[in-house]
Amino acid sequence: MRASSGRPEPRLVLAGGHPLRDEALAAVNRDLAVTVPGLPALRLIVCPDADDLDEQVYVALSDGEAHGTCLIPAEWAGEAMTAVADAAQETVTERLWRAWPVCTVHDLGMHARDVDGTPSWWCAGGSRKGDPAHIRAAIGDLDTLHPPRRPNRRRRKTRRPR
Ligand SMILES: [Zn+2]
Repeated sequence: MRASSGRPEPRLVLAGGHPLRDEALAAVNRDLAVTVPGLPALRLIVCPDADDLDEQVYVALSDGEAHGTCLIPAEWAGEAMTAVADAAQETVTERLWRAWPVCTVHDLGMHARDVDGTPSWWCAGGSRKGDPAHIRAAIGDLDTLHPPRRPNRRRRKTRRPR
């Protein structure tokens, strides 16, 4: 039975209840802290209607605001990481009213992708030839810049032959 007046408050998911998600959220929060310094860390909340902690878990802002779809059940770390990153992206993008996270090289919104087993932020790259899609950083490592590879660019020789 459901109460007719108002909705029950979503519950906070306690740390330790889902180690893979806790770890993933910590990584995404590192990226959030370096890209949007004013925004408090994200947290996991569970919908009041959910029967157990594996159901209807959302990535929410510190005030409980959450957007997008609930997390899909994840069985391994990489899967949990991209799921949490996707959900965090929906919530943060909605709050900021702009793309997040953004590739600092191309000024484009990035997407969470598993790249050879490493959950990463992927950027579609520039529209010009020689400016291909690239991996900006592993999720959780956005403070480290990985510039796109430009194979056509010539390296200037710094040392003259003797
Ligand atoms: Zn880029």
